[in-house]
Amino acid sequence: MTEKLLASISFDDIDSRLWGCTTHLAGLFLVRLSKLPRVELADYPLLVRLNPAIPWKTRGNAAVVIRVYVDGEDPFKSVCEEAWSLVGEYTSPRVGEPVKKPGIACMLGEAWRSGRLRALYNRALRDVVVLDYARITAEKAGVNIRGGRGVIGATAALAALPPGEPSTFELVAYRQPGLWGGPRCIDHESAARLESKLPPCVFNNFDPVRGRLTAAPGGPDPVLAGFRGTCPRHLASYSEVLCEEPHFWVLYRSNQHTDAHAGELGAPRPYKSGTIEARVSNTPRVEHGGHVLVPIIIEPLGQQALLAVYRESGYLNRVARLLQAGDRVRALVNVRPYGSTQLPIMTVEKLWVLRVSDRYTLRAPRCPKCGHRMKSLGRGRGYRCPKCGYTLMTGPIRVRIPRMLAPGVYTPGPGRLRHLTAPWPEPTYFRGGYTPSWGEILSTTSNPPVSDPPASSGSHHRA
Ligand code: ATP
Repeated sequence: MTEKLLASISFDDIDSRLWGCTTHLAGLFLVRLSKLPRVELADYPLLVRLNPAIPWKTRGNAAVVIRVYVDGEDPFKSVCEEAWSLVGEYTSPRVGEPVKKPGIACMLGEAWRSGRLRALYNRALRDVVVLDYARITAEKAGVNIRGGRGVIGATAALAALPPGEPSTFELVAYRQPGLWGGPRCIDHESAARLESKLPPCVFNNFDPVRGRLTAAPGGPDPVLAGFRGTCPRHLASYSEVLCEEPHFWVLYRSNQHTDAHAGELGAPRPYKSGTIEARVSNTPRVEHGGHVLVPIIIEPLGQQALLAVYRESGYLNRVARLLQAGDRVRALVNVRPYGSTQLPIMTVEKLWVLRVSDRYTLRAPRCPKCGHRMKSLGRGRGYRCPKCGYTLMTGPIRVRIPRMLAPGVYTPGPGRLRHLTAPWPEPTYFRGGYTPSWGEILSTTSNPPVSDPPASSGSHHRA
């Protein structure tokens, strides 16, 4: 290759609830790219999660970015054309299906160096982005866009995950087309055995409480399972729990499980995500179904709101029940549309208990003579010891009630983390700076790609 140009091609909104998936389309595109002689891989394919509070997402609000080197502007244009024509083939309407609004974004150069694109990415992680803002940003930053609403996620994702930013991996196995819609063949028992042997660099793949491999989705989409962690070699060992032959495998680098969206929330407008600090203002309420609502005052805004900790969030739900008025917390939240309470309701992804308040109760004193618990003689009339008869003219004493909750960081537990939520304790993240080979990210046999990136990073994008 003579002149090497870094090109990024990004996809979003390729899926629907009934058919297809953005990452699957990106995988098919990678298979095509890998066969072109004048295209070199520049990075892992990127699985970029955006604001989880967006109501029109299909599942996990994901866009995919592919970074390659091309040898000139013409090959760049033809790669981009190829991407758009594949999107056209993939999304051509199917009878009875909801309409998709696919979008792609293509650009030359290091997208993350554009302040405009970085700002768009940061906003798309935490807030609602309107299509016009994404379009104008794309135009000003020299990004070619095509399509509908998917352009928002596709453009925003371009500036994600520059070298140095924390990232994780997801190794995704896709299903043979003939099997889509049918039950997945997963051996949950061998997943349990494997899970107990694997190091903590793999996470959120298995729920030990339910004994289920949560890495496998339940819907009709083409994903057989997606295994998450920071060590691809260990992720590959999960292939032994799949009793269904995958169609192909892709290893993505991702902002998943890095708390990338955890900036300060600010005003709690619906559909935003971010972090708040708050004081618990009343005893948590356990709703029908086991969901917990915790009344809070957001600080320093002084605004009342409710933290919603759903039953599905397992361990976190049990922790939320132990909160008391006066406790101070930090919470990573997604703001829901206001309900009948007229208060902002915020779904909690992760909770930091900063301070637990002291709780007291009033009790009769102990007898100063024999140590027995005394009995009240009536309001304002003091106490008498039932054992030795000693009387004492005093009031009740304040006794501290032991709290069952300690300051700390609380998450829903393994297998139940939301896509962007970082596990606790945080893993040692991969920070890019390594260019993998096609064989390290893509496999069209039933064996997954298996090598780990080197621990220290070499030179990255040379464009
Ligand atoms: P899958 O995980 O299967 O790929 P998904 O959950 O990513 O599905 P999409 O169908 O891709 O869901 O829909 C997400 C839509 O929301 C896309 O059109 C994307 O452009 C748009 N979007 C993403 N982030 C934001 C945001 N912050 N503000 C507004 N729109 C957004």
